Amino acid sequence: MSRIAIIGGGISGLSAALRVHELAAEQRRDVQITLLEASDRLGGVLRTERSGEYLVEHAADMWITNKPEGVRLCEKLGLTERLIPTNAQFRKSLVLRNGRAHPVPEGFQLMVPEQAWPMLRSPLLSWRGKLRLLAEAFVRSRRDGADESLADFVRRRCGNETFERLVQPLVGGIYTADPEKLSLLATLPRFIEMEQQHGSLIRAALRQSRDRSRGDTSGTSGARYGLFVSLPNGIEELVSVLSRRVTEFADVRCGVSVRALRPNPNGGWALLPVPSPMNADGQECPSFFDAVILAVPSFVAASVLAGECSALSAELNRIEYASTIVVASGHKLADINHPLDAFGLVIPHIERRKILAVSFTSRKFPGRAPDGHILLRTFIGGALQPELCDLDDTAIMELVRRELSELLGVRGKPDFVNVYRHTRAMPQYHVGHLDLVARIQAAAEQSSGLALAGNFLTGVGIPDSIASGESAAEKVMKG
Ligand SMILES: Cc1cc2nc3c(=O)[nH]c(=O)nc-3n(C[C@H](O)[C@H](O)[C@H](O)COP(=O)(O)OP(=O)(O)OC[C@H]3O[C@@H](n4cnc5c(N)ncnc54)[C@H](O)[C@@H]3O)c2cc1C
Repeated sequence: MSRIAIIGGGISGLSAALRVHELAAEQRRDVQITLLEASDRLGGVLRTERSGEYLVEHAADMWITNKPEGVRLCEKLGLTERLIPTNAQFRKSLVLRNGRAHPVPEGFQLMVPEQAWPMLRSPLLSWRGKLRLLAEAFVRSRRDGADESLADFVRRRCGNETFERLVQPLVGGIYTADPEKLSLLATLPRFIEMEQQHGSLIRAALRQSRDRSRGDTSGTSGARYGLFVSLPNGIEELVSVLSRRVTEFADVRCGVSVRALRPNPNGGWALLPVPSPMNADGQECPSFFDAVILAVPSFVAASVLAGECSALSAELNRIEYASTIVVASGHKLADINHPLDAFGLVIPHIERRKILAVSFTSRKFPGRAPDGHILLRTFIGGALQPELCDLDDTAIMELVRRELSELLGVRGKPDFVNVYRHTRAMPQYHVGHLDLVARIQAAAEQSSGLALAGNFLTGVGIPDSIASGESAAEKVMKG
């Protein structure tokens, strides 16, 4: 029998546990799986709660389906029939310009205008900015495939105004990142491929839109919202069904914070200091394992491995994280002087506001707010305004009240306001991230029976995290 420990019970660790169990069955191996989670619940940042009649997400509220791991996991858990698409009526984003919210031009997908006319009519760019964006079709292409920051790439191809007014808020919102440092290769490589294959983003987009049916993106703008899904009871439904499944076959212990990991002289790993809580059956937690999957943030993995695996630990420590605060609030629609006819509003950094974005969360999926009411989620902080995360809850709520009032005409007493802090929750994929991850994986390869999982490797989204857990499971079950 082999013993495998999974440290961290977020979606990455839970997915790793399920995959280890599946592989053990396929390989007819007797594997004892222990999952250790520091907090008192499984799911990590993914969490949904009820606030009166509102269904409120602490962090993620949907995931993309063009990366198959999320949907595949739902199939395994019998959740396929429960998946719900985003509401087609409101599939667009708003962007602030000079204090007013305007829709992203129809067909504008993150950084490429797929249709010229809506872009030409939009007040979001000046005429100079529009002409410069259209000139993208004639900008000489770079074909070396080298990494570049999002800011450098967009300024080079589309001009500074498109970068500052559209791309920074749209993409920065996803990664809560500093676009001057954000690696395009690690986050949006398809734009580099478009440049390489077609010489221009506009030409590539025109070719792609001719090739596919129009139904996919017509009437939409911003992110490709038609590709996103959730579940009727929120993301927690995925986490709770998955956690229940994992608890059926694994020894799951919450409230166990692993502080150190040491390779055993005779092979395998020792957890130090030995966590000794009892499980439900009164058994002490084992402290020696044949293999370990670390599914914790990279700075936690670095600290757990410091000492014995110092090279790996040093590389892991190079990944920076940003913090963000999500303020969820419920309002009567009658109290808001704006139609909120979109999925949300993003704020360019140059507008000098105190918030990054507001998600009109109950516009995306049904059942998130009672009739005649709306659930808003306001995002604060990120890599560009880290100091705001130091404010206390009272100051944060006042800041959000003021911004929502000025930007969207939100008045009256909200039905509720909740503040969710995500401290060092967003790994920052800086230029060179893929090389750094390659070095991390190479250093991890030196330690037999050790694998890493988590959103700091090759993608921050839910499907990426699931994929990282599954591939870590495959690694330890191969070795
Ligand atoms: C505000 C916000 C909004 C987001 N929105 C979206 C979205 O809409 N769509 C999308 O796809 N993605 C979104 N994401 C990203 C996605 O939710 C995360 O990347 C993903 O859930 C991370 O999962 P994880 O398991 O890798 O990490 P985590 O969820 O951080 O889990 C790590 C776990 O390890 C545990 N742990 C830490 N230290 C120890 C220790 N020493 N011992 C034992 N356990 C330990 C922690 O308690 C935690 O439970 C969002 C993220 C945030 C923060």
